[in-house]
Amino acid sequence: MKRGDGPAGLEKSRPGFPAKLVTHPAVAVKKTALPQPSRPAVVPLAKSPALAGTGAAKPAPSRVASGFGTGSQAVRADMVRKLQAQGIAHPGVLAAMLAVERHRFVDTALANQAYEDTSLPIGLGQTISKPNVVARMLSLLFERDGVNLGRVLEIGTGCGYQAALLSHLSREVYSIERLRGLHEKARENLRTFRLANLHLLFGDGMQGFAKGAPYSGIIAAAGGEAIPQAWIDQLAVGGRLVAPAVTAAGQQQLVVIDKTVHGFDRKELEPVLFVPLKSGIA
Ligand code: SAH
Repeated sequence: MKRGDGPAGLEKSRPGFPAKLVTHPAVAVKKTALPQPSRPAVVPLAKSPALAGTGAAKPAPSRVASGFGTGSQAVRADMVRKLQAQGIAHPGVLAAMLAVERHRFVDTALANQAYEDTSLPIGLGQTISKPNVVARMLSLLFERDGVNLGRVLEIGTGCGYQAALLSHLSREVYSIERLRGLHEKARENLRTFRLANLHLLFGDGMQGFAKGAPYSGIIAAAGGEAIPQAWIDQLAVGGRLVAPAVTAAGQQQLVVIDKTVHGFDRKELEPVLFVPLKSGIA
């Protein structure tokens, strides 16, 4: 295995593409809450004709099945409207989900299901969570901030979809994947998005990534028996961790840990079903 500048067992591959975005979207959202020319806005979201619930903006099924093209924005708007109806209210999260083309992260054969509220296989026995779960976790992570401008660590890059969303919501994102095949797939999927603030790492995320610490947010897409101590250690004071873990109740639940000057505040929320958090690389 190549050794990067990360800790032992962690190979870091920074994206080689240049930063295309002059103004970071997250900064733009926070500063103005107004539409940027090339991306969807927070304010018009609820007012957008595509989100108005009239049905008029719903894409024809043929457009969904035919590789999207310009139709994908309307399909995503429909997905976002459904998320709103399910109680997702975080403007930054909704704007990011409107912006990021989920269909580009799944196999072509599954692209027509990309905007349905369903989890999908991404290869090597792993799955991309359904949009509602992704939106819920991100809403928890960024609950106290309109947009979190700090550094964020994601454990479980998978196909890279959530990493792309995180890059819209954070100043800097480190995302670790333990399966080389998926790490490479994510790199490929993300290439055209040119997200200069997103750093993909190949390694065992159970160790976190100490070089990027402390993190204002840590999010895991795989659930273990417990929250690894390294993650808690690498969380900044004032930071929040959102991860699935097996709780005392013997089931996997969403766990939220806030690190404060006085210690930790841990909450166990709804039961969830994530792929297992595994140690080592493969
Ligand atoms: N956020 C991802 C979801 C991927 S599923 C997406 O948007 O596609 C969860 C991922 O966690 C899987 O790819 C799995 O390989 C990875 N994973 C499990 N244990 C891990 C660990 N210790 N370190 C890094 N990644 C891990």
